[in-house]
Amino acid sequence: MKNPLDPSLRRFAFALCFTVAPLLAADASGLATRPAVREALAYIERVEPETLNEQVRLCEIPAPPFGESVRAEYYRKKFVELGLHDVRIDSEGNVLGFRPGRAGGPLVVFDAHLDTVFPADVSTKVTREGTILKGPGIADNCRGLTVLLTVARALQQSRIATDATIVFVGSVGEEGLGDLRGMKHLFGKELAGRITHFIALDGTGLGAADGAVGSYRYRVTFRAPGGHSYGMFGLANPIHALGRAIEKISNFTVPDSPKTTFNVGRIEGGTSVNSIAHTVSMEIDMRSVGAKELDATDAAFRAAIAAALKEENEFWQKHARNPRARLINSRSPVTADIERIGTRPTGRTADDAPILQAVRRADAALGIKSSFSPGSTNSNTPISLGIPAVTLRTGGDGSGNHALDEQFDSKDSHLGTQRAFLALLEVAGVVP
Ligand SMILES: [Zn+2]
Repeated sequence: MKNPLDPSLRRFAFALCFTVAPLLAADASGLATRPAVREALAYIERVEPETLNEQVRLCEIPAPPFGESVRAEYYRKKFVELGLHDVRIDSEGNVLGFRPGRAGGPLVVFDAHLDTVFPADVSTKVTREGTILKGPGIADNCRGLTVLLTVARALQQSRIATDATIVFVGSVGEEGLGDLRGMKHLFGKELAGRITHFIALDGTGLGAADGAVGSYRYRVTFRAPGGHSYGMFGLANPIHALGRAIEKISNFTVPDSPKTTFNVGRIEGGTSVNSIAHTVSMEIDMRSVGAKELDATDAAFRAAIAAALKEENEFWQKHARNPRARLINSRSPVTADIERIGTRPTGRTADDAPILQAVRRADAALGIKSSFSPGSTNSNTPISLGIPAVTLRTGGDGSGNHALDEQFDSKDSHLGTQRAFLALLEVAGVVP
């Protein structure tokens, strides 16, 4: 996501807000004009080059799905250095560090996910060229992780006291088959019933995600006895059944609004070129911001699998000449197991929710035009539980997320860090 303001304009607006902030935005809380906050914002801008160095260091520590522990340990040490309280790694692998607020006050989680989509054998070496940083995971989510550390440092140095207790979290399992396991543990066990607000740092640009793109993910395994491709010609074929299913799925029509998508992302199976396979599987991901539309796509998917099985089995019941194949087809037709491997609920934070108002105030103070759109992030979990949540993009400009040529343009990226800092203060409340 790009900042809609031209950079020179943005800088102008930024300079302006420090002199005449109250004029800039009617709903500004005036937080950004307090001396301690102004100093912290200036500090964040000054140390942005070091923030970028940290982004590179973090990114070069591999954190494949279900393998985040080395990066988690590095992150834990950083939390200790920052002087956070009760620093620990929970039983799921999330790193937690507390900054106490008023006793009995709200509890704000400030989170960035540790994991990448890349397997352990992908090189995590980062290269730099001018303002561009290149490397798998450099934007998603090494940027979020580093912004979190700089915000925590700025807050610690400023000695600003907040009403809310802030829990800084480096979480596991945001990507792919991680299926938000870090969040499910945090909200379901570790801090169950205690979290009042949630802010995630994920993605680049200066937008924010206020809605949860829901998704259903399945692994479908087609099975049959299988046999020799020549000798047992006429057997119903699991790979052919899978092909029929994909053909149907690839013809789905889905609405643009609410945006609804589907993708068969992996297929796996077969025995050899001269075998009728006994097993083959595929993984499919369906997403929508609309619960109704997601369920409709899900129903179409299930119908496609059923129809593909029926077609493949009926075809060979009709056309098989080999009597043994006919017998096997009648006794053991191709079957399909549908296994759910991921669920992300849909939902939306109300437009007038105080947490979004807080982000708007931070944006206004920094001359950023607020823009919200739905996303698929750690905020999905709290949103589905009715807990106020927002995911902040973290500045700069990323491209090639989840691809090996992922890159991050750090031009004016300090704005993302400043916005995260101010938004956190707006949500956590500053003690006068
Ligand atoms: Zn991410």
